Amino acid sequence: MSRFLVTGGAGFLGSHLCEALLEEGHEVIAMDNRVSGSSNNMESFFYQDGFSFYEHDVTEFIHIKGELDWVLHLASLASPVFYRDHPIKTLKVGALGTHKTLGLAKEKDANYLFTSTSEVYGDPEVNPQPESYRGNVDPYGPRSCYDESKRYGEAMIRAYREKHDLNVRIARIFNTYGPRMRLDDGRVIPTFVQQALENRDLTVYGDGSQTRSFCYVSDMVEGLLSLIDSDVETPVNVGNPDERSINELAEVVIDLTGSSSGIEHEPLPPQDPKVRKPDITKAKTELGWEPKVDLEEGLQKSIKYFEERLE
Ligand code: UDP
Repeated sequence: MSRFLVTGGAGFLGSHLCEALLEEGHEVIAMDNRVSGSSNNMESFFYQDGFSFYEHDVTEFIHIKGELDWVLHLASLASPVFYRDHPIKTLKVGALGTHKTLGLAKEKDANYLFTSTSEVYGDPEVNPQPESYRGNVDPYGPRSCYDESKRYGEAMIRAYREKHDLNVRIARIFNTYGPRMRLDDGRVIPTFVQQALENRDLTVYGDGSQTRSFCYVSDMVEGLLSLIDSDVETPVNVGNPDERSINELAEVVIDLTGSSSGIEHEPLPPQDPKVRKPDITKAKTELGWEPKVDLEEGLQKSIKYFEERLE
């Protein structure tokens, strides 16, 4: 059994990963400053043996007593709405937070996992995106605080691997959804589901022809665990290649909720990527992983969660 530090452990994905690690019998320290994370996300395992919570900002020096086998750096402001509101925090958590956690991993002689993003590909000119695609990213654009901090993070990890022989993993995470996303998250699935449940029109940005590929959270957690168990030290795409237009997503959400909502078009935010779909050949062949939960099934589970939150 290993001892893990999970930054962003009170977040959507971080809390699911902590829970899965505890189920495997590991010891888990969740670290979070709760800027976007919440204690509610840790309710089901907070008092479980082997779990502890450390309230701390990952961009400040991190003190952990005792040994660590793994540092998993998940802390991030992953919603475009949140990172537009907090661009400096976003840059700091991806850049300084990555540096601090790498320093900790080096000090503890621990292995390291970084959750990077499909945004390293920017508004991609090739679809689907394989790991070898270098992206189409604007360093001075509305999304650059997020995109560039993650690109910097990947470069930093490569440097620690080369200079300090750190054992590293990089997951490039594509759009992920499921229970424990905030209702005010601003990303498309919680927004559409809430609008549909309240019979308000769904706000489709632009003409809705832009695409995304949505991965249910349990598949994402399994993907990350497979990466941890592997010896793949270069970036790997983790996501679901089932590509849908935002119009199609809106229709599925209206259908599954039985809502009387219609669709209202709003202006497309600047530099909103036109397409996004992971090429997961590498994950399939090198991790033996692929997603299992289809969009309809994952949405049904998410709708149930959001319904309970709205009661
Ligand atoms: N989107 C939308 N309506 C909303 C929120 C988002 O049409 O109320 C669109 C957004 O413009 C983008 C897609 O849905 O094209 C996915 O947006 P999200 O914020 O979930 O994440 P992104 O993949 O852009 O980081």
